[in-house]
Amino acid sequence: MWILLADMDAFFASVEQLDHPHLRGRPVVVCGDPGRRGVVTAASYEARPSGVRAGMSLTEARRLCPGAEYVEGHPSRYVALSLQLLDLYLSFTPDVEPFSVDEAFLGLDPKVATLEQAEAVARRVQSAVDERFGLAVSVGVGPNKLVAKLAAGVGKPRGLTALDEEGFRRTFWPLEVQELWGVGPKLAGRMRSLGIMTVGDLARAPIQSLKAAFGVVGPSLREAAWGRDDTPLVPCHQGADPKSMGHEVTLSVDSAEPAFLEGTLLRLADQVARRLRSEGFVGRTVTLRLRDERFVTITRQRALEGYTDDHRLIFETARALWRAHWRGGPLRLLGVSVSALEPHGEHPQVELFEEDRREDRLTKTLDLLRDRLGEAALVPAGSLTHRRALGHVPFGTHPARGREGAE
Ligand SMILES: [Mg+2]
Repeated sequence: MWILLADMDAFFASVEQLDHPHLRGRPVVVCGDPGRRGVVTAASYEARPSGVRAGMSLTEARRLCPGAEYVEGHPSRYVALSLQLLDLYLSFTPDVEPFSVDEAFLGLDPKVATLEQAEAVARRVQSAVDERFGLAVSVGVGPNKLVAKLAAGVGKPRGLTALDEEGFRRTFWPLEVQELWGVGPKLAGRMRSLGIMTVGDLARAPIQSLKAAFGVVGPSLREAAWGRDDTPLVPCHQGADPKSMGHEVTLSVDSAEPAFLEGTLLRLADQVARRLRSEGFVGRTVTLRLRDERFVTITRQRALEGYTDDHRLIFETARALWRAHWRGGPLRLLGVSVSALEPHGEHPQVELFEEDRREDRLTKTLDLLRDRLGEAALVPAGSLTHRRALGHVPFGTHPARGREGAE
């Protein structure tokens, strides 16, 4: 299956230029909320040659680019547009996963067989965003999320880059190791001290020495250097009649610590239960998924006496399965899901249901925006704030890959 990453170009600054024509074609610096007054939130492409970047202090930005327009951001406007963009993406595929306020993964139908066909879809997405919103988006195409994400960063703005694994290696192996998703400046420095300068060096480094130097992160980054990634795409729309609902997490460090693993199971059970409730389902089969450090995955399930959306029962069942099947070695992934679903109540109100789902998406997007702009950035959106239905760590998130992407 081919995956696209659609990444809006200088999103906040472009929206300001769209809404305020006098800003078009000019260097624009968007500032954060009053709580983070001194920081650049986004810079338009016209401002970037002077070196202004998101996260930089405003004082520094003014020194580098005194002639820019400094404008305060409009977070609620960005959120509204972000949701409209998701709707547009959903017209291309039901498998859309919001990744940040201005980025989303699109999983293409398996009928889109070749890289060229996937690239053609990406081009249509790009024109649709332009036609409907007058905004520019860069799209990366790849066989997995990692490659799609990195491809989207090639040739911004209005980039369109399609890479299979081999193309990824051709493009990224000559580049500095820091270009790899998940390798921050600190890690890159340590790699350089071991003689690993490029992504290609990392791909060819002996696994044992990577393990010795970086622990479990080493081998997984080496996999990434080969363009391999098995992180699943988790659609924000699970369809009206999903077969199961689940959350799983790849641990940032493999763990054999029972208390930590149990706590992780509790968190996963809670996320699953919240999602069942928010989407109006109950289920009667609990499934546990464990993957160890050698990537051996086991899946075990147990049927309940009746249907539930209660996190305690889900947790207790998952924990019992874990205690029965875990052999005590380090784990790299844990997952909990509930299947054999039935709608909660006899006659779910479909309109209300849709409304709830929109709220979930909005809540999730608001959470992402808060992460980006700071907690004080958003005026609580009235009744929406009591429904923090989804947790911060969606299914399959790699905590080790938390590097903040360039906008
Ligand atoms: Mg962007």
